[in-house]
Amino acid sequence: VLDVKHLKKTFGENQVLKDISETVYDGQVICLLGPSGAGKSTFLRCLNLLDEPTAGQVVFNGQDLTALKDKELDLLREDMGMVFQNFNLFPHMTVLENLKLAPMKVKNMSEAEATQIAKKLLAQVGLSDKADEFPNSLSGGQEQRVAIARALAMNPKVMLFDEPTSALDPEMVGEVLKVMQDLAQEGMTMVVVTHEMGFAHNVANQIWFMADGYIQEAASPKDFFEHPQTERAQDFLAKVL
Ligand code: ATP
Ligand code: MG
Repeated sequence: VLDVKHLKKTFGENQVLKDISETVYDGQVICLLGPSGAGKSTFLRCLNLLDEPTAGQVVFNGQDLTALKDKELDLLREDMGMVFQNFNLFPHMTVLENLKLAPMKVKNMSEAEATQIAKKLLAQVGLSDKADEFPNSLSGGQEQRVAIARALAMNPKVMLFDEPTSALDPEMVGEVLKVMQDLAQEGMTMVVVTHEMGFAHNVANQIWFMADGYIQEAASPKDFFEHPQTERAQDFLAKVL
């Protein structure tokens, strides 16, 4: 469980997150929607303390992350996988090496075990044949699937996605969403910032709509898409649907 309590984040004078309290339950898939600049990325980065909240708490399985020291925080971060828009694979390493690195370095896993896990995950994202390729020889969709597999290699309890398909050519969006949908079906807890309304509608358990520094609506996809309550959300949907 990830419990966000009165989270605030300001950059100088700019109050980006004003007062956010929400809970992510185990196995839930949350899609975080909202206009550009609403603070979606900032919120995601506050969840794993990549950005330090200005006020409020992020409680992850009973531990208040905002109270932890750097070392303890590193340990907890292992339980949160994060996937960004721009893959961020290590270019000088093969796909398999990309997947093995963190488990061996951070978790002291043996090479044999890391290799076994990496291969299993590559199969899961449909890229077994790419193990020995370098990232620059892959398509964007393949790179992003490797990035997801790499995050999964740490066996996280929660996966955070920040617009994982926004940088992709349209024909590659589906293959990445499919991997995410499979992950959701296996019960992974996920918080997904996305502009893919089909995915949000079909895969999310809950939609959070963020605007003006607040979560304006938290609702089931059906309720949110069919009966948005706020004018803000109605405007947003009129533009994106
Ligand atoms: P988009 O849909 O375009 O990705 P977003 O909802 O993810 O937008 P954020 O990237 O979280 O929005 O940005 C929200 C606000 O916070 C913006 O006004 C941005 O300028 C500001 N901001 C974000 N990061 C920083 C930073 N490191 N320093 C100063 N201001 C920042
Ligand atoms: Mg963003």
